[in-house]
Amino acid sequence: MTASISDVRSVVSQTFPQSLNELKDLVRIPSVSWSSFDPEQVARSAQAVSDLLAGTNLFEDVFILRSQKSDSKELGQPAVVARRNPAPGMPTVLLYAHHDVQPPGDLAMWESSPFEPEERSGRLHGRGAADDKAGIMAHVTSLRLLPELVENVELGIVVFIEGEEEFGSPSFENFLSDHHELLASDVIVVADSGNWNTETPALTTTLRGNATFKLTVRTLDHALHSGMFGGAVPDAFMAFAGLVSSFYTPSGSVAVEGLHRSSVPTPEYSDEQMREESGVLDSVSLIGDGHVLGRLWSQPSISVTGIDIPDVANASNTLLPSVSARISVRVAPGQSASEAFSAIQQHITEHIPFGAIVEFEDVNLGEAFSTDTSGWAAQSISHALTQSWDQEVVNMGVGGSIPFISSFVSAFPNAQVLVTGVEDPDSRAHSPNESLHIESFEKAIVAELLFLVDLNSKKP
Ligand SMILES: [Zn+2]
Repeated sequence: MTASISDVRSVVSQTFPQSLNELKDLVRIPSVSWSSFDPEQVARSAQAVSDLLAGTNLFEDVFILRSQKSDSKELGQPAVVARRNPAPGMPTVLLYAHHDVQPPGDLAMWESSPFEPEERSGRLHGRGAADDKAGIMAHVTSLRLLPELVENVELGIVVFIEGEEEFGSPSFENFLSDHHELLASDVIVVADSGNWNTETPALTTTLRGNATFKLTVRTLDHALHSGMFGGAVPDAFMAFAGLVSSFYTPSGSVAVEGLHRSSVPTPEYSDEQMREESGVLDSVSLIGDGHVLGRLWSQPSISVTGIDIPDVANASNTLLPSVSARISVRVAPGQSASEAFSAIQQHITEHIPFGAIVEFEDVNLGEAFSTDTSGWAAQSISHALTQSWDQEVVNMGVGGSIPFISSFVSAFPNAQVLVTGVEDPDSRAHSPNESLHIESFEKAIVAELLFLVDLNSKKP
């Protein structure tokens, strides 16, 4: 039995007011996962999510679980997990979202209280309204309605609602290995990204990886008077600046051999849009080559994000003996982070001016991600999104990295990972006045329910 799009829309719309109210109740819990905030609120929100999942009547047990952090003996924040095993031969889908939120930041910047949700012009405002409590409610609602649309729920279902995503998921790796069997699945839906806009759905199909490190450049064994020695002896900043210039072509593309580019199709998007959204100053040109979105989605980039040198107020007439900087390399999908790090390391060693000494420390690697959109689950969810929005789905790249997605990929290498979400370009996740486009939320539920109904009829 397959339900039609109008059946699905109608069951969703009947209970949508309830889902919206339950979302508001979740937003009222200030579940900030940062260590300086009250962990009691994260525990409260885990309990609320657990109650919602129990209410779907699909699971015998709903667990609230914690694992030890990777970098200390402390336990991470509580995650909520429920599992229902599949009928023989049927696939298992894991539905991921997170119930923790970012701190509200400057309260004066909010037009309404961050933890008292308010509806204004078709949007629900509040911290976590979009990122990612609406993701949780999309899962809960579609699971609650699934039995109304299929004869028997034969699909295996795992729900995994993390409690510390906004704080860098410190216990995530341990959690995946501690509960590997409980979480095992064929398809993983990560509802923590967004749509192209409020009219157009998207599947996030690529994410760049990252390789960041601290670089120290040395030219002298001690500081020297810049008048006595400047002009004959190189200071460390001079060597560093020359090195940084060698990273780029004159137009600002990355010029480091061994840092790969890939190519992905890009939706319509103009240079003017990029200028407007980024706030680049009028006289300043954009950098790079190729389609402007391709530069973000499928090409590498290199940025210096911090530098230790004397500040202007304390400048003396001195040649600097050493400079340290944090360098961030975004890695194109298709290249491993360690390979990218080796490429930049080799470039730096070969291009450092004047034979200056270089040192690499604090290397941090995160893998890029790309979905095989020809997989059966990717096809099914793309079809569901297109039907629900009544608009062709866009395969969207993201220039940033979501490191926990690569942890999923390495823990469950055979699973298809699908990245969806409820956000849109105006959601302002992490910023003051975060909001959810309420109609997009309903469409996201319709799409997820259509997808689950379709999966329930599949034997891969
Ligand atoms: Zn999120």
